[in-house]
Amino acid sequence: MSDHPVPGSVCDTRGSTSVTELESALQTLSVTGDDDTTRILSEHPRIVLADSRLKGSPCFLYLPPGKNEFVLVDYLKSLRTVASWPVWNQPAPSPPSDPESCSYRIDMAFDKGLGMYATRALKAGELIVEERPVYAMRRQIIRGEDQTHENGIFHRNAVRGLCPKSRAALMSLKNSYPPDVHVVPGTLCTNYLQLDITPEPDVMNEFVGCFPVLSRANHACSPNANYYFSFPSFTGQFWAMRDIAKDEEITIGYCRLIAPRRQRQADLRDRFFFTCTCSTCLLSGEQLAQSDERRTKLEKLLTTLETNSMPKFSSPTGALQLLEKALGWAQQEKLAVHQAQILFYGSNALTVQGTSPDVVLDWMKRARELFKDTEGERSYNVRRLDDSIQFAERMLYRR
Ligand SMILES: [Zn+2]
Repeated sequence: MSDHPVPGSVCDTRGSTSVTELESALQTLSVTGDDDTTRILSEHPRIVLADSRLKGSPCFLYLPPGKNEFVLVDYLKSLRTVASWPVWNQPAPSPPSDPESCSYRIDMAFDKGLGMYATRALKAGELIVEERPVYAMRRQIIRGEDQTHENGIFHRNAVRGLCPKSRAALMSLKNSYPPDVHVVPGTLCTNYLQLDITPEPDVMNEFVGCFPVLSRANHACSPNANYYFSFPSFTGQFWAMRDIAKDEEITIGYCRLIAPRRQRQADLRDRFFFTCTCSTCLLSGEQLAQSDERRTKLEKLLTTLETNSMPKFSSPTGALQLLEKALGWAQQEKLAVHQAQILFYGSNALTVQGTSPDVVLDWMKRARELFKDTEGERSYNVRRLDDSIQFAERMLYRR
């Protein structure tokens, strides 16, 4: 069953920018005279040195070559490698030109800014939208605070080399930052999503990026969509984690969801300057206490599973019972990705605990199905599980 939205259940987290604001934001992109420290290093692909006065300065790479649809900010050596990837010869997925066939729309939320809504009923496991970022950056690019935040010159220089369409798309996104932060870095920081610009999941979370459509989605603590960055296609994707009704708001999670409400809210306030009023955050009394307890227990258990530190149970059924219970907690909290993680890490833990191999195989298959529904058939986790399942089946048949 799908959830129908409760009015006001999702926060105005990344709403709209007015036309006047947009015009003034675009004007701030012009950098002249002494402020222009950039130097063009190559035209095809276009690579621009951010600060020619600085040895080893970061650079801006505009992609796909000749189109300047998005900019990747990183150091030169890494950018030269990225520029040679064959993916730039493939057409980038874009929303259907006919709005009728589009499965989402960007619309005013009930009492908040903009949000993303389903234009028809969506099935769990459906790809809702897929697109390339307009801005992508290595998180740890070292620059002075004055250049990145106060006057934003570094980011302004990067953005002004984009094609006009991408520039306008980026600067029409919401800026939640206070006025002492320049509008360009403010807009970027408000809208960053994590990018895995590595063949395997990037555990260090080294890259972030902004998307014209994906960055519009609001947050909920039991979101109905999962954001996934697909490295092979270099696209951000939203997958329906459960059935979504026509006109229901499509939401994702901005913060660590397996944490009690107090912690989630503090995190969202610190990083995105809003107080979450989603249906999970609106719970009170015993219901809130139970939700907080389930999420706290999930956090503890997943940490134990991820670090392979589950204590040895006196019988294999003890471990199985605990993990089944944890799956129930994740299901009650409507956290499908965490269910997939419990199934995946749990299958390893069950092997260690001496659980029968056919039960372990069943857990791997269930994990594969959930990862397929939340990240797609081509995801790293699905491919990794396919290998494990094949291996486990070979071992079972050999017995
Ligand atoms: Zn919430």
